[in-house]
Amino acid sequence: MRKKPCYECSRPVVKDVIALNKKLLGRQTNRVLCLTCLAEFLGCTEDDLRNKIQELKEQGCALFA
Ligand SMILES: [Zn+2]
Repeated sequence: MRKKPCYECSRPVVKDVIALNKKLLGRQTNRVLCLTCLAEFLGCTEDDLRNKIQELKEQGCALFA
């Protein structure tokens, strides 16, 4: 999977975070947010999102394969 720029701040968004965007915002979304902007958008912390990524990986979510 290619890196995409964050929709808000243009920083490169890594693959795990792109997968999290798809999980939380829908697979069809073309807008990806970096961890910082996504946390702000969702009203949570970056650590919450890192934990969520870890949790989804452990569940074997196909988006994180
Ligand atoms: Zn951003």
